[in-house]
Amino acid sequence: MNATPVIAIHGGAGTLLRHAMNAETEGRYHTALTEILSAGERILADGGSALDAVTEAVRLLEDCPLFNAGHGAVFTAAGTHELDASVMDGATLEAGAVSCVTRVKHPVLAARRVLDVSDHVMFTAAGAEAFAAAQGLELVDPSYFYTEARHQQWLKARGTSGTMLDHDAMTKFAFDNDPIDPDKKFGTVGAVALDANGHLAAATSTGGITNKQAGRVGDAPLIGAGCYANDATCAVSTTGTGEMFIRMLAAYDVSAQMEYRGLSLEDAAHDVVMTKLPRIEGRGGLVAVDAKGNVVLPFNTEGMYRGYARVGVAPVTAIYR
Ligand code: ASP
Repeated sequence: MNATPVIAIHGGAGTLLRHAMNAETEGRYHTALTEILSAGERILADGGSALDAVTEAVRLLEDCPLFNAGHGAVFTAAGTHELDASVMDGATLEAGAVSCVTRVKHPVLAARRVLDVSDHVMFTAAGAEAFAAAQGLELVDPSYFYTEARHQQWLKARGTSGTMLDHDAMTKFAFDNDPIDPDKKFGTVGAVALDANGHLAAATSTGGITNKQAGRVGDAPLIGAGCYANDATCAVSTTGTGEMFIRMLAAYDVSAQMEYRGLSLEDAAHDVVMTKLPRIEGRGGLVAVDAKGNVVLPFNTEGMYRGYARVGVAPVTAIYR
């Protein structure tokens, strides 16, 4: 008999210090995570596929301005938005991704169309937008992705050297006597799920890191780095310092350690997040599920917006360690 279907999501990791948040803000995050988990859970309860559940959960996360994906995405150094997304089906190992899109309202839907109808795995920039348009997906004016909170964050990050994880940027400025309203934190998003047929899927979507150089691509759209799913092992979606997750092939490494070393999901994910990534100063976390329905949500930062929902059971959400 198959395990009970389950979905897990994340909304980004970083320096989410407790005292930089108030109860009302926290409540808003818990509510958003709970509603999105419930939507995914309903799809799974109705016999829907893991692939549909993760696509829908990430689409809803893209719409939510609390998180750094879709509406509410971070700014590049050029003052623009460039979005990345990916999706993978563990049953078939089919995958789809887009990177550097600036006008696709729901990058995860473009990634899903790549998986569904294209012979290719990834489209980028103008080509990705042309593909999305040809598929009838909604294109928006780039100003759709603009939020005042994000803009303020970027104006401050611009004066510093380098890039920052969105939550780190928010917290840093909050402690620089130049407080940014903690309401204005955001986060990269992702989902993993196991469906009633025992199939796994993963999806990830992001605006990237604040003040990134235009044209920079992170781990989120790279299959094996920010997203991976294989029915034989697990489904994984990551968040964190993308460059290190790329160098570590973080998502695939969890799967590979289960396959080659025979590790449990928990041990494999722990090794990647707590041992291997820190060796190269990789910061962040991941959510993952295996075919038995085990769920793990490890992270090596102070916090990660996260949660999971098993069909028939109320969603569980958390922010801090
Ligand atoms: N991993 C994302 C990137 O590097 C950022 C994040 O997860 O916050 O683009």
